[in-house]
Amino acid sequence: MIAYQNIIDKIAIDSKNTLNKGVVASYIPELATINLNKFGIHILDAKNNNYSSGDALEGFSIQSISKVLTLALSFGIIGDDLWKRVDVEPSGDPFNHLSLLELENGIPRNPFINAGAIVIADILASHLKNPKEDFLNFIRELTNDPSIRYNEKVALSEKRTGFKNYAAANLLKSYGNLHNDVEIVLDFYFHQCAIEMNCKQLVNAFYIFMNHGTCQRGKNYLNVNQVKRINALMLTCGFYDEAGEFAFEVGLPGKSGVGGGIVALLPNTYCVATWSPGLNKKGNSKLGMAALEELTTRTGHSIF
Ligand code: GLN
Repeated sequence: MIAYQNIIDKIAIDSKNTLNKGVVASYIPELATINLNKFGIHILDAKNNNYSSGDALEGFSIQSISKVLTLALSFGIIGDDLWKRVDVEPSGDPFNHLSLLELENGIPRNPFINAGAIVIADILASHLKNPKEDFLNFIRELTNDPSIRYNEKVALSEKRTGFKNYAAANLLKSYGNLHNDVEIVLDFYFHQCAIEMNCKQLVNAFYIFMNHGTCQRGKNYLNVNQVKRINALMLTCGFYDEAGEFAFEVGLPGKSGVGGGIVALLPNTYCVATWSPGLNKKGNSKLGMAALEELTTRTGHSIF
């Protein structure tokens, strides 16, 4: 039995005491107001044991972490046709980069750069009756938690400053890889990023990726091959131009968001979420990455 609790308590204390915590994302004005001193970590293991430390039960903006959940929902709906519209190669570029999209004839490099996630948002806008409501219900169902909500202030804040996302959506539209109106797709995209969840709710949602597509209540959402593909994408593309560094330091498939959250998992073993709002230069949580490196180093629990 691994002493997860002792390890994460120490990580939480060390993180709170660290002086250089990175910087909060300021390009979404609403996120710039978050307290830099927050730090939370939560682990859910395959036997349904929970371990929590720090601010693990405080909600934050999940931002790009939502891209894994929209991918899961759209993959479950349209299956492998999805890969006709988005590729599966790491970009080695920042999340909001546009030139790669251009080079690949309107097919974004992967579903986790913004352009790729906007295509996925378009697929959901086409296939769901009430996209925003249905997506939120999907997350509430995965977590068995009806309290999860969109933060409308964050969605609006990003909409007002989302010029690069408008550019990406318009570029996709010009290539015929966006079937709905730019406004409709981006309204969905800004909302999915503005979902507020805490570390515990995130590990509950990501449980399906460590458990062959089946949630804690036994409902199956994705088959084993689909889960394999999503985990592979998290490993190779989950941290943008820092995916190599995350694999090197942490050794788990995972996904970050500019709200400072990171979720990572070891199939069949555990799922972990961290939250520390200060980001490094690549837009990933500085202390979250350090915490996960410490966790996998101390436990030996990585995929390698
Ligand atoms: N909503 C953010 C954006 O589109 C998501 C980026 C992120 O979390 N990496 O810029």
